[in-house]
Amino acid sequence: MSLPPDYHMHTPLCRHATGEPEEYTKRALELGLQEIGFSDHAPMPQDDFDNWRMNTGQLDEYVANVRRAQQDFPQLTIRLALEVDYLPGYEDWIRGLAARHPWDYFIGSVHYVSDDWAIDDPQKLSEWKHRNADEVWAVYFERLAQAAETGFFEIIGHADLPKKFGHRPSRDGAPLYEKFLSAAKKHNCAIELNTAGLRKDCREIYPSRQILELAFQKGVPITFGSDAHTPGEVGMNFADAVQLARQVGYRKCCRFAQRNRDLVPF
Ligand SMILES: [Zn+2]
Ligand SMILES: [Zn+2]
Repeated sequence: MSLPPDYHMHTPLCRHATGEPEEYTKRALELGLQEIGFSDHAPMPQDDFDNWRMNTGQLDEYVANVRRAQQDFPQLTIRLALEVDYLPGYEDWIRGLAARHPWDYFIGSVHYVSDDWAIDDPQKLSEWKHRNADEVWAVYFERLAQAAETGFFEIIGHADLPKKFGHRPSRDGAPLYEKFLSAAKKHNCAIELNTAGLRKDCREIYPSRQILELAFQKGVPITFGSDAHTPGEVGMNFADAVQLARQVGYRKCCRFAQRNRDLVPF
C-alpha cells in the first residue's frame, strides 16, 4: 500500500525553509507519494510579528508557487493549504485569510502561549527556564481546544508541541488532552501525526501514543505530516507514523479538497 498524503510542508517564503515547491514535489514522487499539501506558515496582520513566516504581501506569491507545482506535476495531487497560528483575538484575521483563496485545508497550530513567546522557537529556548512546564502545557492545551472550537481548522498541528525540547509535565496530562480532543471531535478537526518530533530533542512523533489512543477512542480522525522544511524531509519517517497509527487502531486517514473531508485507507 502506498504512503498516506504528506499534508505538512513548507516553502522558503517562511524564511526558515529551503527548496522550492518543485523540489518537494520531486522528492514526493521519488518516494511514491500520491498526494501532498503545502501548508506554509501563514502571515500575521503585523509583518514584524516574528521572523519565521511570509509577509502578508507574499501570500499571492505563495499561492502562485503552489499552483505552478500543480501545473508542472499533474501526476501528483498537490493541495493548497496554510499552517495558521491560533492566538486568541486573531479570529477575524484568520477568517479574512480563509476568504482570500480557495484553500484545501487549514492546519491550526499553537506555537504561542502568550503574544510574545513561541514555545518551539530555538531562539527563545531560554524562556523555558523562567516558566513552569505544567503551566505551559496547561495554557498550550487550553489554546489548542480554543483553536478547535473556532471551527476554522480542518487539522490541528503537532498536538503536543511543548515536548519539543524535552519539557514534560510533572503530572498526567490526560485531563488536558481529553478536553482538547472532545473539542476536536465536536468541531470536526483531525489531528496530524507529525514526524518532525522524531528529528527534535523529544525524539517522538507528535502527538504521543497516549494522546493518539485517546483520539482514537473519541473518533478523532488523523492526517500525516512531515513538517518538511527541506525537500529531503518530505515523507520522512512515514513508515514509523503509519505503524504507530495502525497499532493504535487507525485504518483510515483524511484527505481534503476545498475544505471537504474524505476518509481513505492507508
Ligand atoms: Zn516552520
Ligand atoms: Zn508548526
